[in-house]
Amino acid sequence: MNDCIFCKIANGIIPSQKMYEDEKMIIIKDINPQAKLHYLAIPKEHFCDITELSKNSPETLTHMFSVIADKKDELGFKDGMRVITNVGENGCQSVKHIHIHLLGGEKLSEKMG
Ligand code: 5GP
Ligand code: ZN
Repeated sequence: MNDCIFCKIANGIIPSQKMYEDEKMIIIKDINPQAKLHYLAIPKEHFCDITELSKNSPETLTHMFSVIADKKDELGFKDGMRVITNVGENGCQSVKHIHIHLLGGEKLSEKMG
């Protein structure tokens, strides 16, 4: 997608602080962290949200969670984390390229869900 900010980040057109990269995905630092540690796991292929990713490329979704599981200690989430993906209008999704928020590095205060 030409005008998608996360496609541009995934392709290196817009710089980001990359924590991890492979052929299918990246993990970057969120530009506006909501916790001591706040990363975004983003697939390189464009899908608007997790439902579209799950329908069209379930193997990518599985891969992403497998990487998150493998890397969680290294990323600083040994003592736990919150994994969030916002979907659509009511979910307050602002960037329409699926991304999984990884939050932690401290005891998180607000609990939803
Ligand atoms: P959403 O509201 O769509 O679930 O989350 C979008 C997230 O992307 C927000 O946490 C926001 O701070 C982050 N974000 C938006 N633009 C950029 C950017 O250019 N670089 C990085 N690293 N994060 C971004
Ligand atoms: Zn995109």
